[in-house]
Amino acid sequence: MKGPPPAQVSRRGFGTALWRLADLVQAADRRRSFRARAFRRAVWSLDWLSSDLSDSAEEMAAVDGIGPGIIRLAEEYRSTGTLAELDRLSARFPADVAWLSPLPRVTPGRLEEMKRGLGIDTTADLLAAIETDALSIIEGIGPTTAERWATILSLPPSPNAVPAHRAAVAAGRLRNHLEEFFPDDRFRIAGEVRRMEEWVSRVDVIAITEDPARLVLFLEETATAMSSAVEPGWAIDLITHDRIPVAVRLSDGAAAGTALVRWTGPAEHVAALGLDETEVSHATEKAVYAAAGSAWVPAPARGRTETSRGFVLTDDLRGDLHVHSDWSPDGHMTLEGIAEAAIGRGYQYIAVTDHTIGLRFGGLDAAALGRQRQDIEALRTRFPELHILHGAEINIDRHGVPDLDDDTLHWLDIVVAGCHSHFDLPRDEQTARLVAAVRHPAIDVLAHPIGRRIGIRPGFDVDLSAVFEAAAETGTALEVNGHRDRLDLSSANAELAATAGVGLVADSDGHRYDELSNVGVAVGVLQRAGVPPDRVVNTVDLDGFLAWLDRDR
Ligand SMILES: [Zn+2]
Ligand SMILES: [Zn+2]
Repeated sequence: MKGPPPAQVSRRGFGTALWRLADLVQAADRRRSFRARAFRRAVWSLDWLSSDLSDSAEEMAAVDGIGPGIIRLAEEYRSTGTLAELDRLSARFPADVAWLSPLPRVTPGRLEEMKRGLGIDTTADLLAAIETDALSIIEGIGPTTAERWATILSLPPSPNAVPAHRAAVAAGRLRNHLEEFFPDDRFRIAGEVRRMEEWVSRVDVIAITEDPARLVLFLEETATAMSSAVEPGWAIDLITHDRIPVAVRLSDGAAAGTALVRWTGPAEHVAALGLDETEVSHATEKAVYAAAGSAWVPAPARGRTETSRGFVLTDDLRGDLHVHSDWSPDGHMTLEGIAEAAIGRGYQYIAVTDHTIGLRFGGLDAAALGRQRQDIEALRTRFPELHILHGAEINIDRHGVPDLDDDTLHWLDIVVAGCHSHFDLPRDEQTARLVAAVRHPAIDVLAHPIGRRIGIRPGFDVDLSAVFEAAAETGTALEVNGHRDRLDLSSANAELAATAGVGLVADSDGHRYDELSNVGVAVGVLQRAGVPPDRVVNTVDLDGFLAWLDRDR
């Protein structure tokens, strides 16, 4: 028998249940993650429905992203206030399943054992269990794995810190979502994400609107957050389903510049501009700086005290030296598409650097590179305005040895070297490995030098000063990789490298077209580091760049 409908059915409640179900479905069976993706996509679509979810099945079906399966779940939620599958899976798996299941060697069975055998619900519970050696009751988990879990779970500098990559994705999604619903308003990402912090405590979005009431109502009811709190008149605080805190600050157009500077921060920079004492409104950031009598500072550099040497800007880049085509097993761009995109970005040169054979999931050998050269030559004829370098991102083994022979390496136009394995070598071995790569006469750029992925694995234990010394001597450039989960070199290390006389490269490491704009993130890291343009190899024009490539050949 059906009971009375629950009192508080809302699209937000349904969105929260659906998102949670997605996390659980994915953790319970990775082969079903397409279902999880469909659930999450549906959550973003729910905002097209009424806030009490009273829409008919036909009205729901008319919304992109909401299919028959979601409509059935919505009907179940409407009549019972919950989802049976959600309740069943919640009883079997830890509450923090979304954070625990990406850990290495975690399987659905082991997640269940954690919950059933040890009562583990949260990441804190798991850390406590590791500390007391309680994990040994879980089949197949030894002390080495437990230690790796502890390392990964201890990466966040504070309990609620979110890795840069996840915060930037959340910020970008929310901005696109709001732009879709409020095409007359403007939304700008500020705060720690804009400053290219490695870890983020909150996502800040500035909403520039002349009609704040509508926007506030929408955010109070959005299905894309699990909670919201309104600061009347000027802000709405949200917590996303991934538990990322978001502050949406309201501003009108006339005060947009002031709001952007204020909420980009950091506080000392804002205070130094005199924004604490005056409440003068400026429409643009440039106007705020002009009124304060100082030069505009790029957002990532606003935490710096020393800003006199100037900053490299994305527009200063003349090329990208690390790009993967669909010749790489994980690449999604055609060679032709890469050339067109490079011209579109105003580059003078571009390096195609696909993965090579030494990689775990495979890559190009000398013969395949030979075939690729024919395609590249055809492309050169078609796009004479672009200098297309045929390179490779070669793989460096644990002893610092490349996976291609010297003849092939010297035949390539440019060689980018990357370490994609053996992250746990002892410090002296890791240092010797990287120094050997940097000293190899055919290697031009060392990609993502410390191998970290923020929130996923720590970087190499390595004596970077020895690597910098070798690179300064040989002229080998060190990369600042623009993937938000890498930011490698970090701004702190890029600053040390530049001071040691090392040339740096801002690279996208793009595997997809939208990732080519990662160079802007790499540039942000260089701005944070205060590295002037003349220390950045790919700001040099084509002639100068070719001269650098020729330095040791
Ligand atoms: Zn790589
Ligand atoms: Zn790469």
